[in-house]
Amino acid sequence: TNPVFTGLATTVFETMSRLAIEHGAINLGQGFPDVDGPEDVRKAAADALMAGPNQYPPMLGLPELRQAVAEANRRFYGLETDWKTEVMVTSGATEALADTMLALLEPGDEVILIEPLYDCYLPLVKRFGGIPVRVRVTPPEWKLNLRALRAAFTENTKAILINNPMNPSGKVFSEEELAEVARLCREYGVYAICDEVYEHLLFDGRRHRPLISFPGMRDLSVKIGSAGKTFSLTGWKVGYVTASPKLLDPIAKAHQFVTFTTPPGLQKAVAYGFSKEDAYFEGLAADMQAKRDRITTGLKSIGFDVLPCEGTYFVTCDVTSLGLNSDDFEICRRMVVEAGVAAVPVSAFYLADAPTSFIRFCFCKRDEVLDGAVERLGNWI
Ligand code: PMP
Ligand code: GLN
Repeated sequence: TNPVFTGLATTVFETMSRLAIEHGAINLGQGFPDVDGPEDVRKAAADALMAGPNQYPPMLGLPELRQAVAEANRRFYGLETDWKTEVMVTSGATEALADTMLALLEPGDEVILIEPLYDCYLPLVKRFGGIPVRVRVTPPEWKLNLRALRAAFTENTKAILINNPMNPSGKVFSEEELAEVARLCREYGVYAICDEVYEHLLFDGRRHRPLISFPGMRDLSVKIGSAGKTFSLTGWKVGYVTASPKLLDPIAKAHQFVTFTTPPGLQKAVAYGFSKEDAYFEGLAADMQAKRDRITTGLKSIGFDVLPCEGTYFVTCDVTSLGLNSDDFEICRRMVVEAGVAAVPVSAFYLADAPTSFIRFCFCKRDEVLDGAVERLGNWI
């Protein structure tokens, strides 16, 4: 018989969540809020499911959601986009990433990835024939090495994947870093695949700056967002892509053959969600910032070396100082089994030669859950 491809690994989120359930651990591993998003948005979905229609919606997405995304581009970033030709709805940001790479990559194309990288990037790039080229951001500040970035661009570079704000580091790229990425993309004619699912989760007064809004990036960028993060409804898997018609057209062709459409009732509800006032979006970031502060203070009080977190709902720790004498995978495993708290080893987000002393905690959880986790860890250490 023909061999089957066995090169795809189980995601670290799946592994850690399963282990957490098995051991009754508090799950600060996989990133998902433990309180569902706004009730009125959920009600809008329930109403839409009952009222119907529940048949295939338009391939590019319901006009009302595409209009809402275009309006959000204008409202939050002053970015004018034509909802008819520049916005598409997908089944989560993950599908948007897959569609984009399916559309843009040809075997042998180099794709720049910034480590630590979100776990679906590498298998997608590789399965579509791309050649990953690595650049790093380095702790504790998770600064991008601009010289290494420049060196990564070649005549063969097709795209750079940039996740801002960044999972798992909690980094928000600086204006200077983004400007350099944009400059290099322009110089080499490289596409920027911008995973901006945490665009509404920036802290301490920071404002998100989409790469597509930088000079000359309008026709080189694919901006990807997710209602899962923006409305704390990760299970809905509603994402959206903004790109110039020349880019969106082939991405939409790929989307036809991947999922084709996304449940219309959920699209309707997300469109409704985008009509919320600024207070909602500001409140989301403020709530999450308070949780970041809560877990940071708690972890520091029991001796954890907590790194800065500027956005997302993840915070990383350097566990070297805890003297546990194991690598991050083993420490996370022991933490579940012995302490009853799940985290995620950051080395899972590297291609190779990963640092092995960093672990990631997800903090989009109820305060008592965060406090409970800190208490368990405090007793364990
Ligand atoms: N990109 C990043 C960086 C993420 O953290 C996530 C989280 N799940 C996704 C993409 C996937 O988003 P979605 O659930 O909308 O597919
Ligand atoms: N994005 C989530 C995280 O980083 C996990 C999503 C998944 O399990 N694939 O934890």
